[in-house]
Amino acid sequence: MTKQILVGGVPIGGGAPVVIQSMLNTKTTDVEGSLKQIRQLASAGCQIARLAVPNMEAARSFADICKDSPLPLVADIHFDYKMAIAAMENGIHKLRINPGNIGGAEHVRAVADCAKRHHVPIRIGVNAGSLEKDILAQNGGVTAEGMWESAVRHIRMLEQAHFDDIVLSLKASSVPLTVAAYRLADRMCDYPLHLGVTEAGLPGHGTVKSAIGIGALLLDGIGDTVRVSLTGDPVHEPAAALDILRAVGLRGGIRFVSCPTCGRTQIDVASIAQRLAREFADVDRPVTVAVMGCVVNGPGEARDADIALCGGKDCGALYIAGKPVRKLTGDLAEGMANAVREYLNDL
Ligand code: SF4
Repeated sequence: MTKQILVGGVPIGGGAPVVIQSMLNTKTTDVEGSLKQIRQLASAGCQIARLAVPNMEAARSFADICKDSPLPLVADIHFDYKMAIAAMENGIHKLRINPGNIGGAEHVRAVADCAKRHHVPIRIGVNAGSLEKDILAQNGGVTAEGMWESAVRHIRMLEQAHFDDIVLSLKASSVPLTVAAYRLADRMCDYPLHLGVTEAGLPGHGTVKSAIGIGALLLDGIGDTVRVSLTGDPVHEPAAALDILRAVGLRGGIRFVSCPTCGRTQIDVASIAQRLAREFADVDRPVTVAVMGCVVNGPGEARDADIALCGGKDCGALYIAGKPVRKLTGDLAEGMANAVREYLNDL
């Protein structure tokens, strides 16, 4: 079991449910724009949001952002320990900084002392793309062992400053390397792990990479918080993370089943399934809803679903708890959405 830390009241690690994070792409100095995106992320299921701090003005903007933010916030800082201190003094709930890159033990102690005073945990974020030169030379390039070695150096610096409120990430854009690095970290330490495949790419390709990397680790019982990194609007990230958590059984929610369609398909499976997925995305009941295109394979799957629609000629057969109950005609998407709503209301 990993150690538990608290980020603005949200527990990470120590057996707490896996937490979904994302990162804004607004300018942190744009307070209104950032708050708008934080609210959008919160509605999409994000529980902790991270903002980049490229300058002191951004660090000071947290004074205004934190007081209206519905989510705990993380300041992402590289190299400048003074910006880290300013961000903490202005209300952030967690810091992402690598102590090895902030100018020596004195600066690390200043950051650690400030973090202790403000109850701010620190995430050490090892990235395969920026490993120390001697580690690369020693390992003949980027390896999981090298990533862990880099993590150990950063961890030691904080521990020497008597600080252990630490979260750790070891991200690479390669899925096998990411998985190997986290497996190693899981064996070697009990700090909570923040999972992610970095620079995964656009939604679609990037979602698949993240799902494989993060999903493989979660299925091993590794990981306390996740961020799916996707190029573009971050609002897609929490939804993808939620899908991954649901797929590995770590979050409730409707399990949607729909057939791939083929030459036998008799109803518009895709538009009915899309309507249901859209309309019931936020429902967290453990219910299986199936949409099947014909009566060849449909009834088999329908029998295993809580509520299902099987396509017939100009109609659909509605199944509840595996039994056919009535025929739907007309707008089948609307009819099925109504049936699912009634089913959920009766639970
Ligand atoms: Fe084709 Fe029917 Fe299978 Fe759908 S359920 S893929 S329509 S055979």
